[in-house]
Amino acid sequence: MLVFKTIDETRKFVSQARELDQTIGFVPTMGALHPGHLELMRRAKKENDLLVVSIFVNPIQFNNATDLKKYPRVLFKDLEMLKTIDCDAVFVPSVKEMYPEPINKTFDFGPLENVMEGAFRPGHFNGVAIVVEKLFEIVEPHKAYFGEKDFQQLAIIKSLVEMERIPVEIVPCAIVREKDGLAMSSRNVRLSPEERAMAPRIFKVLKEVAGKAGEMDPVLLQQWGMKQLQAEEAFDVEYFQIAEDATLQTIVNWQIGQGALAFVALKLGQVRLIDNIRINS
Ligand code: AMP
Repeated sequence: MLVFKTIDETRKFVSQARELDQTIGFVPTMGALHPGHLELMRRAKKENDLLVVSIFVNPIQFNNATDLKKYPRVLFKDLEMLKTIDCDAVFVPSVKEMYPEPINKTFDFGPLENVMEGAFRPGHFNGVAIVVEKLFEIVEPHKAYFGEKDFQQLAIIKSLVEMERIPVEIVPCAIVREKDGLAMSSRNVRLSPEERAMAPRIFKVLKEVAGKAGEMDPVLLQQWGMKQLQAEEAFDVEYFQIAEDATLQTIVNWQIGQGALAFVALKLGQVRLIDNIRINS
């Protein structure tokens, strides 16, 4: 497995691969890898000749300085994990390598960025778009893999690729969960044992909400789900929304043929967790 710290080395590797007509599957990450990340990578490896992974804790997508500071960084362990899945190359740039000077680009994702994560984390998606566009320019992947755990991020990336006409196929991947239902996340290691024991309640509520969709209208269902979450003293709920998959706008009436999901973001102690579930009304 090759480990590149510079853009130049990575570009060289990529252009050699392209000359040999090898396809590149790319998985961008912020490290602190877990089996959820590995699932994306295994799929990328299977569907392409080469697997390229990036590990970069992107400072400009953090709207909270403490969250950035406390974000787990375990590069040595990550590299060991990547070796086990036969990763071909890892790009691990420094902040200076990625941003030698500040980037002031502003994207407009319209209504997609004004709800949920976009509303609660100002500037977050602009920072995500800047880094992903730059990573795509460097790695030039044929396919790039993103998790549905960050469903809104996936929608933003699809929109970015369309707007900027970037020649890459975006491949959505299902959420990987712990046995007790908690969505895997790099932030889970920051939960105390008590908080970790509470955390699976999030997915339990989402499943209950999905189960009630046939008998409740979306507005009442949203209120019911919110009440279940707020009933847990440990949960500081930021939002609980029932929204359409394509537009991410709140659903007020069920409509035939419309895709729906329930989305949640909450703080459990110091840790912010998000999750979602598809709903069949
Ligand atoms: P991150 O390192 O958190 O930026 O995540 C890198 C990629 O892995 C993103 O596309 C995430 O959506 C995806 N990912 C993270 N956790 C999971 C999970 N539990 N299941 C599926 N994909 C995930």
